[in-house]
Amino acid sequence: MTIQRTFSILKPDATRRNLTGEINAVIEKANLKIIAQKRLHLSRGQAEAFYGVHKERSFFGDLCDFMTSGPVVVQVLEGENVIAAYRDVMGATNPENADAGTIRKEFAESIEANSVHGSDSLENAAIEIAYFFSGIEIVG
Ligand code: ADP
Ligand code: MG
Repeated sequence: MTIQRTFSILKPDATRRNLTGEINAVIEKANLKIIAQKRLHLSRGQAEAFYGVHKERSFFGDLCDFMTSGPVVVQVLEGENVIAAYRDVMGATNPENADAGTIRKEFAESIEANSVHGSDSLENAAIEIAYFFSGIEIVG
């Protein structure tokens, strides 16, 4: 049993449709614990830095426009193997390919406006958590 932490974002398409509570209910029903949470409006620089790994991709500019189009809710989730577990709860990047019951299948609008972000590795989870939260804000 490996308790891990991962970083999550409820994206602007989710906050715009007032889905924070509904998505959090899916997270909590999956036995993942929200141990830190806050609502922010990302600056262009913050969005570009956060998605820097995608800066050569054709969709990078559009993605940064979208991520700065409204508020986001950033979170730290804790649970057993939570990095993979949350990726399962999120569903595939493209909601058309996502399994029934996943957040993206139920809520996403498109491959870009796909409602949630979740870290893809232990290393990136630690980097992403540290970018948005100080230790005192995380209550496990
Ligand atoms: P994931 O969020 O599933 O880890 P990626 O890391 O590959 O997916 O991409 C980061 C984000 O970029 C996606 O969640 C989505 O918002 C956006 N994105 C990915 N692929 C595309 C695409 N082909 N067109 C537009 N936006 C995309
Ligand atoms: Mg990713």
